[in-house]
Amino acid sequence: MGLIVQKYGGSSVGDLDLIRNVARRVVETVDAGNRVAVVVSAMGGETDKLVALARKIGGEEPEPREYDVLVSTGEQKTIALLAMAIHRLGRAAVSFTGGQMGMRTDTSYGRARIASIDAQRIHRVLDDGAVAVIAGFQGIDEDGNITTLGRGGSDTSAVAVAAALDAEVCEIYTDVDGVFTTDPRMVPAARKLDRVSYDEMIEMASLGAKVLQTRAVRFAMRYGVLLHVRSSFKPDDGTWVVPEEDIMEGLFVSGVTYNRDEAKIRVRGVKDQPGIATRIFSPLANAGIVVDVIIQNLSQDGTTDVTFTVGRADFRRAVEITKRVGDEIGAADVDADDTIAKVSIVGLGMKDHAGVASRMFQVLAEQGINIQLISTSEIKVSVVIDEHQIEPAVAALHAAFVESGAAEPRTEA
Ligand code: ADP
Ligand code: ASP
Ligand code: MG
Repeated sequence: MGLIVQKYGGSSVGDLDLIRNVARRVVETVDAGNRVAVVVSAMGGETDKLVALARKIGGEEPEPREYDVLVSTGEQKTIALLAMAIHRLGRAAVSFTGGQMGMRTDTSYGRARIASIDAQRIHRVLDDGAVAVIAGFQGIDEDGNITTLGRGGSDTSAVAVAAALDAEVCEIYTDVDGVFTTDPRMVPAARKLDRVSYDEMIEMASLGAKVLQTRAVRFAMRYGVLLHVRSSFKPDDGTWVVPEEDIMEGLFVSGVTYNRDEAKIRVRGVKDQPGIATRIFSPLANAGIVVDVIIQNLSQDGTTDVTFTVGRADFRRAVEITKRVGDEIGAADVDADDTIAKVSIVGLGMKDHAGVASRMFQVLAEQGINIQLISTSEIKVSVVIDEHQIEPAVAALHAAFVESGAAEPRTEA
């Protein structure tokens, strides 16, 4: 008898009919002879509403502990409703909040990291033949304070539960058929990938393919959890996320992603001398602000420009800090722009092939799209462009690299 962890996202539990649909799928899996632990998100849109409420009363940065107490309630509603729906189908089910199931985290409210899971309680429920219905996205710290794992965090909860239970597979049920070559809601020609490697999936997720939370994929890779991303509404196989060795042949570029969540800051006219980069970036790091792409121009007359991107949520604070530092180091000026987007291509096939980046720049040039910043790594190339040009950029890159059938063997010939 197998042990399966299933995770249902917000769009799959958005209303009572959808919750009944999930209950049926869970019961089918039980009837097929499996033990099932289900991790659920808040009903679609619920977390956004809770965040908006918190901001209305608590301002832009509500008190973090109370923020987590509030936003964690969305998942608590879903677990109770799903357990009731399973009861109506004649099966036993027991709901658990993060705290009740022993999901221990650190105390970083709003972005807590999982420390441990006490799987005993879930095992007991499963041993009794019941379904364990677990609230995603939340845990408790050492002192019993409620914490949340960051937006999209139910994916990470599910993988952590799968690792703790040593489940056969962690199934991520969502509103699309699997992981696609690009967002299927933006590009109708997007195609479903049957398999994708952990490394590619980590890049795609961190570069904007929101179908999986990046942390969840990292966690799955580290603990060898097999992930299967599939539709809540169809029985078909979706996408398996597997080790690279298990992929013999595949697409040269597996995915085209976009991310509207970044903003750009430029420090102009700084002295080109040792120590300047640390003067600019240390205060940002100390404030917990993650800097992504960084470009420093060649100097002219002993001065240079440094440009970088940060998440939009940190934009205001990052601009304040950079302006202060800019004054201290005698920079000519600091300017900032939050109407940018990052568009990327990702693929293991790029490893052994030159010319991918230049082809990407050519495709964008043909669309009249101006590239503001570029960053590359072994299996991805990212460019920062004007956010209004996301759609044509993604469509053109998908046509050039995926629809053209640019398939390359992944193993050395
Ligand atoms: P859930 O509510 O199930 O957690 P999400 O909204 O977090 O679902 O993620 C699913 C959405 O991710 C899809 O509806 C799709 O629009 C979007 N998406 C973006 N890029 C991709 C991609 N490459 N493959 C699949 N879905 C993608
Ligand atoms: N409900 C949380 C969110 O909307 C967590 C999740 O759905 O994964 O971000
Ligand atoms: Mg999600």
